Amino acid sequence: MAAHVFMGGTFDPIHNGHLRTALEIQQWLGVDYVNLMPSKRPVHREAPGCRAQDRLAMVELAVHNEPALRCDSREIDSDQASYSVYTLAGLRKELGANQPVCMVLGMDAFLGLDSWHCYEDIMSLCHIIVVARPGYALTPNKVLADLLKKHQATAREALLGKPHGHIVIHELTPLDISATDIRSLLQKGLSPRYLLPEAVLDYIEKMQLYKASD
Ligand code: ATP
Ligand code: MG
Repeated sequence: MAAHVFMGGTFDPIHNGHLRTALEIQQWLGVDYVNLMPSKRPVHREAPGCRAQDRLAMVELAVHNEPALRCDSREIDSDQASYSVYTLAGLRKELGANQPVCMVLGMDAFLGLDSWHCYEDIMSLCHIIVVARPGYALTPNKVLADLLKKHQATAREALLGKPHGHIVIHELTPLDISATDIRSLLQKGLSPRYLLPEAVLDYIEKMQLYKASD
C-alpha cells in the first residue's frame, strides 16, 4: 500500500526549501504526491497581514502546477487547536491502521520534537523522515537520542513496509532558505525573488504582506 506523506509547517511564507524538500521526498519514496499542511498559529505570534488564510493561499499557489505536491488544509479548516498528534490520529482514522504514514520534519523541527504535545504517542501513529537542514547538526538531547535508538532505520523500505514506528534521517539538496530570512528581506524593502515561487511573491506583493511596520 502506498505511503501517505505530509510535511507540516507555518509556511509564513512557503519557499523553495520546503518545495524542493517535498519533491525530493516524493521521488525518493516513489509515492504519487506529498502533502504540504499549513498549521494554525497562536494569535499572539501572527505577524500583521499574514493570516492563516494568506499562508494557505500561498501554499495553494505554490503547488498549483505541480502534480507531485498537494496542499492539505485540514488544520486551518479545523476548529480545533492544531496539535500534530490529533492531526495524525485523524489521518489514521481516515486511512486505516495499515497504511504507512510519513511525517517529514526538518532537522530544526526534529530537535524540538520532545516539547510537542504527547510526542510519545507520535511513533505509534506515523514514521518520521528527518531532512537535513543547513545550519542544524544532529545534536539530539537525551530524550531524542533514546527515541532514535529505539526507532531509527536507514532504508526507505522500512518506511514502506510498516504503518508507523521508524525514524529515517535523509540527506537531500541542502537549501539554506528560511521564511524568517524572506520576511526580513521584505521588511527591509529587498527582493526575495528566486527563494520562493513567482506566484507566491506576486501574492505577497498584491496583498502587501510582510511590509515594514512604520
Ligand atoms: P521560519 O523561519 O518562520 O521558522 P521556516 O523556513 O523554518 O520558517 P517552517 O514553516 O517553520 O519554515 O518549516 C516547516 C518545515 O519545513 C519544518 O519541518 C522545517 O524544518 C522544514 N524546512 C524549512 N525550511 C527548510 C529548508 N530550507 N530545508 C529543509 N527543510 C526545511
Ligand atoms: Mg521554522
